[in-house]
Amino acid sequence: MSRKYNFFAGPATLPLPVLEQMRDELVDYNGMGLSLIETSHRSKEYDQVHNEAIALIKELLAVPDNYKILFLGGGATLQFSMIPLNFLGEGKSCDFTLTGSWAKKAYGDSKIRGTVNVIFDGAEYNFTKVPDPSSLTITTDAAYLHITSNETIQGIEWRNFPDTGNVPLIADMSSDIMSRSLPIEKFGLIYAGAQKNLGPAGVTLVIIREDLLERCPDTLTAYLNYKTHVDKNSLYNTPPVFAIYAVKLVMEWVKGQGGLSAMTESAEKRSSLLYNTIEQSNGHYSCPVDELSRSKMNVVFRLRDENLEKKFIEEATKEGMIGLKGHRSVGGCRASMYNAMPVEGATTLADFMKKFAKNNS
Ligand code: PMP
Repeated sequence: MSRKYNFFAGPATLPLPVLEQMRDELVDYNGMGLSLIETSHRSKEYDQVHNEAIALIKELLAVPDNYKILFLGGGATLQFSMIPLNFLGEGKSCDFTLTGSWAKKAYGDSKIRGTVNVIFDGAEYNFTKVPDPSSLTITTDAAYLHITSNETIQGIEWRNFPDTGNVPLIADMSSDIMSRSLPIEKFGLIYAGAQKNLGPAGVTLVIIREDLLERCPDTLTAYLNYKTHVDKNSLYNTPPVFAIYAVKLVMEWVKGQGGLSAMTESAEKRSSLLYNTIEQSNGHYSCPVDELSRSKMNVVFRLRDENLEKKFIEEATKEGMIGLKGHRSVGGCRASMYNAMPVEGATTLADFMKKFAKNNS
C-alpha cells in the first residue's frame, strides 16, 4: 500500500505507527479477548488508558499542577458555547480578537451571552495578520480575553501571547496545540479539538486553571458545567473511548520523537520549505499572510488565477498529494501540515510546486 501525503486541514494525517498499533490491538486489546472499544469505560483497562493520556498531555505540555485536563465531546465548537455559559452572563463582558473565521465563530456564541469588546479586528487587514500582543488594550474587568492561536483557514498564527493580568486568557488551540511549548501559566483555559495534532475527531482537550471553576454557575445543566467534568475526571458520562485511546498513542509517539522541541523543529522545516518555495517562485505563487504571522501548520497560497489553481490541485492529487484545496470560504490553496506530516511530505510538495511553476509559466 502506498500512503498518500495528506494535506487536509482536519481530520488530518496520523502517525503510521499509531494506525498500525490501533489495527493490531483492535480485536484483542492486551489479551483481554475483546477490543478496548467493547469494554466498559469503568474497566481498569480503560481507566489506565484514560489516565495515561492525561498524564502524557500534562508531561508534554508541562502543565502546572493548578490546571486540570479534561476530555469532552462536542468538538471545539461546544467550547464556543461552554465558555460564555460558564463565564459570561448578565452584566458581564469579555474581550475578543477577531483574527479569522474560527475567532468569528467563537465570538458569535459569546455575543449571545454578554457584551463582547472587539479589541482587535483583523478585517482591517483582510485577516492576514494577528495583532502584536503588546498593542492590545484589555478591558480590566473583562470575564476573559479569547484568542485563536492558529487560524486554520487564514493560515495565521500567534507567535507570542499577551499578558492579561487578572483577566483569564482563553485560547482556541485546535490547530496548533502540541506543535510548540507554551507558557501555560499565562492562560486560564486552553481548548482544542483533537483531529489535527492530537488524534482522531471525537474528543476535545480542555486545560482549565482550577480557580476558574469557582466562577462556573450552579444554574447550568450538568454536562455544560466544567466543574462536573473536573469532579468526575471526564468520566461523568461515557467518554469517546476510542478517540482518547488514540490520543494516548499519539502522545506516546510525540514523546518518542523527542517531544515538543522535535515537533517544533519539523514544523519549522516543513513550513519554511513551502514559504521559501513561494517566495522564490517569481510570483508564480503568492502568500497573502504577513510574514510575522505565517502559520507553521497551515500554509495558504494562491496561483495566478483560479483555473491554474484547479489544475495545480488536480495534478498534485495525481501525484499522491491530497487535500490542497483552500477552504471554500476563501478559495486558493492550503497545505495543512500537522505533527504527523513527515518532512518528506513538504519536500515532495515543494518539488512539485517548482516543477508545476516551470511547466506553467
Ligand atoms: N477552531 C479551530 C481553530 C478549528 O480549526 C476548528 C475546526 N477545523 C474548530 C475550532 C472547530 O472544531 P470542531 O469541528 O472540532 O468543532
